[in-house]
This record gives sequence, C-alpha cells and structure tokens, in this order.
Amino acid sequence: MGDENGPEQVRFQGSLLGLAIGDALGMPVEGMRASAIRDRFGGIRDFMNAPWRLLKAGQWTDDTKMMLCHARSIARMGGFDIADTAREFVEWFESNDWRGIGRATYESLQRLQAGCSPLESGMRGEMAAGNGGAMRMAPLGLLDCGDLERLRDDVRAATTITHDNPEAVAGSQAVAYVVARAARGDLDLDRAVSDTAAFIGPGETAERLQLAHRFLETDMAVEEALARLGTSGYVVETVASAMFCFLNSPDDFEQTVSRAVGGGLDADTTGAVAGAMSGAYNGLDSIPARWRQQVEAAGEILDLASRIFTLMGSRPV
Ligand SMILES: [Mg+2]
Repeated sequence: MGDENGPEQVRFQGSLLGLAIGDALGMPVEGMRASAIRDRFGGIRDFMNAPWRLLKAGQWTDDTKMMLCHARSIARMGGFDIADTAREFVEWFESNDWRGIGRATYESLQRLQAGCSPLESGMRGEMAAGNGGAMRMAPLGLLDCGDLERLRDDVRAATTITHDNPEAVAGSQAVAYVVARAARGDLDLDRAVSDTAAFIGPGETAERLQLAHRFLETDMAVEEALARLGTSGYVVETVASAMFCFLNSPDDFEQTVSRAVGGGLDADTTGAVAGAMSGAYNGLDSIPARWRQQVEAAGEILDLASRIFTLMGSRPV
C-alpha cells in the first residue's frame, strides 16, 4: 500500500503497534551477539519468555513504555506539550516498572522528579548520544506528518528532555521523518536515505545512513551490513541499521523486524525503530496476526494511534 497518497489510520496503527512488536520481539535477545542469536535460534520469528527479566512472551520494554508516554500525552493535550510529556515520564519513572531504562533517561528523569525544568533536564555530552529519543518518536512523526518543520522542532524539544545531544536529536528526527512520510503515503524508497539525510542535516547519523544506502545498493548480506553499521545503543548505529532492514525488505514487515532484532545487542530498540518505520509504510494489515494478537496492550496502542490520527486530521493545512 506504499504508493497510495494521504495519511491513513491503518498506517498510524501499524507504526505504533509495529514499534511495540519490534520491541517485544527483541526483548528476550537484548544484549546477545548476532552470531549467538543465529546459532541458538536461527532467526527470531516469535515472541519468547524472558524469565530473567520477569517478562513474558509479547511484553515489551522501556522503548514502548516511553512511546506510550508521548502518545498518551498527545491524546490528552490535543498535541505535543513538553511539560505534560515530562509529567508522563515521571509518572512512569515512579511506577518502578522500568524494563531496561537507559542511563541518560534515568538520570534525566531523576532531575525532572526533583523539579528540574524539561528544558534543562536532558543529559549532555557524548554519553547522551543514545537511542532513547529515537526509539520513542513515532507518535510525533504521526502527529506532525502534515507539517515537517513543526515536526523538526517538536522532535528536538521532545528528545532533549532526556538526550540533549545533537546526534540524539538528529537520530530522533530521522525516525520521525521516515514515519511521517510513510504514514502520509509519500515516502520515496529510492530517495528515503537522501531525503532523510537532507532533513536532519550533516552529522554522524546522516553519514551512517548514507553508508546503509551504499550497502543496500551493493546487495550486502543483512548480517554483514548490520555488523558494519552497528547495533549498539549509539543512536547513529540504531537508526542506520533499522533503516537498512526496512529498505532491504520495504514491503515485508515480518522480514524487516525479524532481521532487525537478529542484529542483536540493542535488539529491542533496533526492532522498535524498524517496526515503527515498516508499520507506518505497510499499515496494520501487513503485520502477522499472531504478533498483533499476542503483543502486550495492543488495544490501548491501537486506540491511541487512532486518536492521534483524528488529531492530525483536525489540524489546519
Ligand atoms: Mg528497551
């Protein structure tokens, strides 16, 4: 359905549920090397229990927790509101149901909890170039899909609540941009990398995305490409590897997400980002029924996606 024009509700639903599914699929193999995943499981095609994390098959991690904070706040406030988003983050933080919270996020939310402004709470410096912003940005990509300048600004503000770092912002903007263009049905696959790089501007993220594009052009094997692009928590690696997986099988949600989590290390987040992109491009119906039925909180996620779709449509053009 990628060549139809105009935003569609099924794309909004596909993006947010796709994010949660990628997260849940990668959850049990987070931290494993790609070679160990291949040797032990072959490929990851089904949700698995992770008793050492106290999580069951289909449950997701901090990535989806934080995406839901954004989505709930957007639905309640009728748009992006940085103070209310920060309030949602603190409410989650105080629940202690962290599910693998990242260090930059942990420290930033501690500052918010202590009364710091969300304009000042984000971690700065090199250690803040993590993927904790990029993993949660799909709701903003959907909300602002009709106004890409607004998207650029909202995503910057939303990211710096926890990650006050130029690459973290660029990585978030890249994900939100791809989700936005895919959700409104005008993502040009051949130009996806160059358009995204132009949107976010020069930097490490843009360079690594161009490298992913070269790997795609030369038909590099997925495992080798992900090994070279990287699958750590460094946002530059996450965004490039997720984009590679999406563009390597743009019409196949299952293949894209399965390969993304097969890259190991920060598997849940690579999976979440790839799932958000592919779900937006292909729509809800492209997601295998067993994943749609088994993923945690599917009903709430689909409802929030529908509410964001309605909000987006009510905005003046
Ligand atoms: Mg996670």
